[in-house]
Amino acid sequence: MSEVAVLGAGFVGLSSAYWLMRDGHHVTLFDALGPGEGTSFGNAGTFANYGCIPVNNPAVFRNLPRFLFSPTSPLRIRWRYLPQLAPWLARFLCASMPRRYEHSAQALASLLSRAFDGYREMLESDDLSRFVRPRECLYLYSNAASFDAAQPSLALRRSLGVRFENFDRAGIAALEPNLAPIFAHGTLFNDSWFLSDPRGFLQTLHAALLASGLRHQRVAVRTLVPGANSVRIVDEAGCSYDAAQAVVCAGAFSGRFARQCGDRVPLDTERGYHVRFPGTSSLISRPCGWAERGFYMVPMDGGIRAAGTVELGGYGPQRNAALLDLITRSARHALPQLPQPDSDWLGFRPSLPDGLPVVGASSASPRVVYAFGHQHLGVTLGGVTGSVVADLVAGRVPPVDLEPYSPRRF
Ligand SMILES: Cc1cc2nc3c(=O)[nH]c(=O)nc-3n(C[C@H](O)[C@H](O)[C@H](O)COP(=O)(O)OP(=O)(O)OC[C@H]3O[C@@H](n4cnc5c(N)ncnc54)[C@H](O)[C@@H]3O)c2cc1C
Repeated sequence: MSEVAVLGAGFVGLSSAYWLMRDGHHVTLFDALGPGEGTSFGNAGTFANYGCIPVNNPAVFRNLPRFLFSPTSPLRIRWRYLPQLAPWLARFLCASMPRRYEHSAQALASLLSRAFDGYREMLESDDLSRFVRPRECLYLYSNAASFDAAQPSLALRRSLGVRFENFDRAGIAALEPNLAPIFAHGTLFNDSWFLSDPRGFLQTLHAALLASGLRHQRVAVRTLVPGANSVRIVDEAGCSYDAAQAVVCAGAFSGRFARQCGDRVPLDTERGYHVRFPGTSSLISRPCGWAERGFYMVPMDGGIRAAGTVELGGYGPQRNAALLDLITRSARHALPQLPQPDSDWLGFRPSLPDGLPVVGASSASPRVVYAFGHQHLGVTLGGVTGSVVADLVAGRVPPVDLEPYSPRRF
């Protein structure tokens, strides 16, 4: 068995480490941060096995005026970032054409149908399964027009094997009595669930892997240099490490490693936010997503986390006060008992313009495997991606056709 370096300690990196160690490899994790401190920290924690409708979908064209000009739009662009964003945005709009979008939806559905297999065995451990809340996710629509507009995507989900039930106002009140009666329609996605503390889950997994021999180098990697017999990993301080193989799971920050290994992959970021309302988790029993406002309210350990929105605006640390305000006001409108939030967070979803991740070997060498770009679905798809990574490293044929996720598809 070989030495494998895994870059990144998020859902994708730690799941990859899990599956690689299960095959008997010696794994070294490289990340200056602790487990689940990147984008894997502040997400909505939903196991969204129904999430096969990418953000690049034909509704984008219809919704464009609202996205650009409405104060309640959950999608914003930082105009100063537009020059850098333009090539990504052009590809994103092309990928939103009906045929391209259906291709992305099918490819996502193929991975999503195996998503639970990626976690099944991990969740046999009581330490990890204690974070799982088996409550299905509820999408909410405040008016009939948006529910009607969602019908084509719901029909596509159904045709791709997603099971769901629709509810009217009275049905929503029976499911979640503390919600204000402002939602005309709801959709409950069968077999979905959520994590009560995504970082807690990853910290626990990380501790179990350390106990089984995982090493964690707390450094940021600067360069990957694939050679004939090994891969050289150079950290920001200039120290070098050698491994037989390397797996790039650095989320939204993976693009530079792809370039170093011969692939120009149009990776950018969809920034997303959360606010936390402390001590309020008993108000709802499940993730409630307000469809028109683009965020979920999730009863996590420590309080309801209201998480979501999309801001196309690069990697800077400045937070968008208008989006944080939109999430806060919308959550308090939906759940009038909510107090003021006590904290907020900004995260960087790793996103390719066609909404599909990159999973596969680099052009420079089969010794470097990519696993990044899981956009809105990294929690859900981390496990199955890790198992595919282990297949690639072992030279096994994975159970999914990897062509749609190829780094060379652009
Ligand atoms: C608001 C919001 C809500 C979301 N809700 C959900 C949800 O409900 N369900 C779902 O499935 N997904 C959700 N997501 C998406 C999900 O959070 C991401 O897809 C996922 O966290 C990506 O995981 P990752 O392991 O690829 O990246 P990350 O978690 O970002 O991990 C990457 C790691 O790489 C490290 N790294 C970066 N650069 C280097 C370097 N040079 N050297 C070494 N290490 C490096 C970072 O420190 C980081 O720890 C949401 C995202 C957001 C923003």
